[in-house]
Amino acid sequence: MSRRAIVIGGGIGGLTAAWRLQQRGWSVTILEAGDRWGGVTQTRRTPGMTLELGPDSLIRTKPAGLQLLKDLGLDGGIIGTGADARSSMIARGRRLLRVPDGLYLLAPGRIWPFVWSSIISWPGKFVMLKDLWARTGNGADESLASFVRRRLGREALERLAQPMVSGIYTADPERLSLAATMPQFLEMERTHGSLLKGMRARAKAEASHANASGPRYGLFMSVPGGLASITDALVERLRVGGADLRLNTPATSATPSAGGWQVDGLTADAVVCAQPAWAAAAVLEDADPNLATRLAEIAYASVATINFVFAKHQVAEPKAAGFVVPAIEGRVLLACTCATRKWPGRAPEDTVILRAFVGGALHGHHLERDDASLTAAVLADLRDLLPIHGEPTEVVISRWPRAMAQYEVGHLERVAGIRQREQALPGLALVGNGYEGVGIPDVVAQADAAAARLS
Ligand SMILES: Cc1cc2nc3c(=O)[nH]c(=O)nc-3n(C[C@H](O)[C@H](O)[C@H](O)COP(=O)(O)OP(=O)(O)OC[C@H]3O[C@@H](n4cnc5c(N)ncnc54)[C@H](O)[C@@H]3O)c2cc1C
Repeated sequence: MSRRAIVIGGGIGGLTAAWRLQQRGWSVTILEAGDRWGGVTQTRRTPGMTLELGPDSLIRTKPAGLQLLKDLGLDGGIIGTGADARSSMIARGRRLLRVPDGLYLLAPGRIWPFVWSSIISWPGKFVMLKDLWARTGNGADESLASFVRRRLGREALERLAQPMVSGIYTADPERLSLAATMPQFLEMERTHGSLLKGMRARAKAEASHANASGPRYGLFMSVPGGLASITDALVERLRVGGADLRLNTPATSATPSAGGWQVDGLTADAVVCAQPAWAAAAVLEDADPNLATRLAEIAYASVATINFVFAKHQVAEPKAAGFVVPAIEGRVLLACTCATRKWPGRAPEDTVILRAFVGGALHGHHLERDDASLTAAVLADLRDLLPIHGEPTEVVISRWPRAMAQYEVGHLERVAGIRQREQALPGLALVGNGYEGVGIPDVVAQADAAAARLS
């Protein structure tokens, strides 16, 4: 008889874990609280138009995402970002300034494009030179803000690091753990004693790699029907494989029993909690209150995306993948993707889609507004930064409460403690963006590992 697993959560993490278990011969039941599969991975498709409501791309440098596409037979249709979308911009006042070539999150890899950029003032650029002799950290976990202030100064933090990193982590840099999110910069500091030197070495290595391997394609990828094509394909595979798929079924409690697990009256040999850590905490409260406390310590921020659809003549769209807005600008808008530039062919030729981000650790209070007021405030910010005439032809707002895990200082230690307790409960696996990486490929890698470990 095949072993039975219950997977709690039908986002991309839960669906991947369930499919990997099914491939290994398990019989699986998936419990999803909501009325649709995919979790935050949602794509809205109407004739001629594809709108991403949650995530919109997979980073190519993390192999688990690409491997999943290959295993699902979706790799033949992989698309890269449009030729006009290989750079991004940062807002300063009412202007959008291009991120200089070679800049990587916190620091420039090429000196001259950065020197001539006006993202940082001249005094701010001089302060950044202190990186060449700044003291090295003492090895303790440090916040992004403390690290950047120490090495590059306050302006580099406020105008560069905070907005660039916020586009990924929607985080408060004063709380974000550098070791848990961008250890490569700590490594640069250790190896080169300087980020500027480390970035130059990185740029050189990349240039020689590019020469060796021909033209480099964009860092991000998707599939033609949007990312929900991945979760749709997973659901289809699971269905064909005989999985028991239950929507509108929130799990309330998972407890170990007689060598297996009980979940709300169902029994199984293993249980995978593929939810945000705070939701897993509630389900595991009876099984291990200590584990539940640790899970609940992982903070989450809420975000929303707003897709604005315009006729092409209404908007002078920048030639960029999008732009980020420093918190110091005091706007409601956090970031904006120029979706029609980033993913050409997903909307009629005469259409422009701007996809705005709102919320996150520093801007969560804006989400208390109702849809109409939030949309109006974001549109006002967009009009300030871009020439926009008239009203959008369509607006689609998607709210994602407590969806973005915040890797605060001490995160690595916290997760090590969680993994230790997980191991003490045989048959339990935790998968999600609260643990070892916030992106889809990270969650998929955890799902792969969970299925392998349980089998
Ligand atoms: C707006 C936005 C943009 C993003 N952009 C990107 C991007 O471009 N690229 C990228 O790689 N990552 C991106 N991310 C992050 C990435 O999307 C997530 O980390 C990933 O999708 C999380 O998948 P998951 O399955 O772990 O969780 P989720 O998608 O949150 O799914 C968890 C599921 O568990 C269900 N659930 C919770 N509790 C219970 C319960 N008790 N019983 C049953 N079901 C339950 C929920 O209803 C939900 O469906 C983005 C995230 C957001 C919100």
